[in-house]
Amino acid sequence: GGAAEPPPRLVLDLERLTQVPSEKAGPLQRYAATIQSQRGDYNGKVLSIRQDDLRTLAVIYDQSPSILTEQLISWGVLNPDARRAVREEEA
Ligand code: C2E
Ligand code: C2E
Ligand code: C2E
Repeated sequence: GGAAEPPPRLVLDLERLTQVPSEKAGPLQRYAATIQSQRGDYNGKVLSIRQDDLRTLAVIYDQSPSILTEQLISWGVLNPDARRAVREEEA
């Protein structure tokens, strides 16, 4: 890829997130709720998060960022385009 291409946005689908069983999604649900409260952003159907936050979540879930990214995409809570953010980082 070209160096001028901006990294893809990481966008969580907050409605889908409420539908994932909390034994899987609990840590992510709490993390997203914390960001919403820090921003005062309660009305969105989606939440854009930082690239750094995906790394933090990978530590929380004890997974590599790329495995966690695949999991979140398979739950339908993360945009598939986010794969590119992880690949760029590991390249
Ligand atoms: P902060 O990191 O000191 O950011 C202060 C303010 O700068 C933010 O207030 C926001 O208005 C702006 N800002 C910082 N980075 C960005 C950015 O990438 N995009 C945009 N559009 N604005 C940005 P805000 O939103 O009220 O957030 C308050 C504090 O909550 C932030 O202080 C930070 O500590 C935390 N926070 C908010 N969102 C996130 C997030 O997605 N991830 C993490 N790790 N912390 C967050
Ligand atoms: P986008 O990033 O593709 O976001 C599309 C729409 O998704 C936004 O429309 C908003 O309704 C929703 N959205 C995305 N992230 C969040 C979030 O963290 N919280 C909430 N509540 N909603 C979110 P909107 O607001 O009309 O923005 C249209 C476009 O304008 C955005 O497209 C983006 O390209 C730009 N934009 C909006 N706010 C910011 C910002 O703070 N920083 C930057 N750089 N661009 C922004
Ligand atoms: P965005 O607002 O379009 O910002 C895109 C990238 O520009 C950010 O990627 C970050 O690298 C840089 N950036 C923008 N504003 C600031 C700033 O005030 N301080 C610093 N240090 N960098 C800034 P990043 O961090 O991966 O964030 C991705 C998206 O997550 C942002 O897109 C925004 O939609 C959301 N976001 C991140 N942090 C905050 C925050 O503190 N408050 C709000 N409201 N949104 C945030």
